Amino acid sequence: MLILHCPYCGVDAEETELHAGGQAHLTRETVGSDDEAFEDYLFMRENPKGVHFERWRHASGCGKWFHAARCTTTLEVFGTYSAQTTAPPREICDAISGKRPGWSWKTFSARMFS
Ligand SMILES: [Zn+2]
Repeated sequence: MLILHCPYCGVDAEETELHAGGQAHLTRETVGSDDEAFEDYLFMRENPKGVHFERWRHASGCGKWFHAARCTTTLEVFGTYSAQTTAPPREICDAISGKRPGWSWKTFSARMFS
């Protein structure tokens, strides 16, 4: 079972206490965006085999949204952090890079946002 640490209330919550919110760190398209960029924002999502950044809500707890970095193949959780960020904290990127040589946020985000 997936267990995520809520960065707000400090509880280690089981998956049944959480609500998945999809991919984290999406850039919202708005007035002035072209149709292709808006379509990508609405419909296109990463589905990696490996490191992924996701939004989760502590639905049966404090109710707040947060981000989690985890591996989709091993379910290893690299960390959770505030949803009020545009990029994962340095310590989480370092934890991922330490276990996945060659991985970097810069490479991941360039692929994700291109
Ligand atoms: Zn919480």
